Amino acid sequence: MDTFIDTQFDFNSGASNVYSASTRKDTKQQQIAEELGEHHVGTSADTPMRPDAFKMSDDEKIALIEGHFKQIMDVLGLDLTDDSLSGTPYRVAKMYVQEIFSGLNPANKPDIKLFENKYQYNEMLVEKGITFYSNCEHHFVPIIGKAHVAYISSGKVIGLSKLNRIVQYYAKRPQVQERLTVQIADELKRILQTDDVAVLIDAQHLCVSSRGVEDTSSSTVTSYYGGKFKNEFTKNEFIKYVEL
Ligand SMILES: [Zn+2]
Repeated sequence: MDTFIDTQFDFNSGASNVYSASTRKDTKQQQIAEELGEHHVGTSADTPMRPDAFKMSDDEKIALIEGHFKQIMDVLGLDLTDDSLSGTPYRVAKMYVQEIFSGLNPANKPDIKLFENKYQYNEMLVEKGITFYSNCEHHFVPIIGKAHVAYISSGKVIGLSKLNRIVQYYAKRPQVQERLTVQIADELKRILQTDDVAVLIDAQHLCVSSRGVEDTSSSTVTSYYGGKFKNEFTKNEFIKYVEL
């Protein structure tokens, strides 16, 4: 990392926040943040949130974020009196709260109804190619991908569009792909009352393709196989359907 400072630097000197015109020297905390972000390490299966996360209304959040985003733009030197930019802080705030991060709020969780498996269809059901847009929690830039989910009915079946909605709900959070995969799988298991679920996600991270190493062709694949899907034959059948 060329932004890292050498190990001789005294972090306790109180002078670690030194910025010069030519080189920015990161503090220990900033180094850890860079490392964690570049390696896209997640810390838990649950999205880390404060207990008081929803004490504020959406409108209050939008007003506060608008103010903060205005400051970011101002620090960057952008002219907020320009017609094209003046409405941006509000647009970004509204988009954060009501759209791209709306999946943080449990109030927005899709309400799922199950049906009896009247057809006695006991094979796997695969819903493949669900397009989603999420955001990397380390850089707040988009993750664009496809999710493929499957389950084997334990006696209940779910409306197909609901599988899509579950993916979208968890995608609309600051995410790491591994956690997104596990959160979707856990919710499917909970709703469908079975461990027999599979989730496969193939996604492009714009923090990798548009900055950092600037690799535009790589994608990241994560998977979860529960219950019967741990069986090689069943797992391969699922993968075969996804590749169709
Ligand atoms: Zn990232």
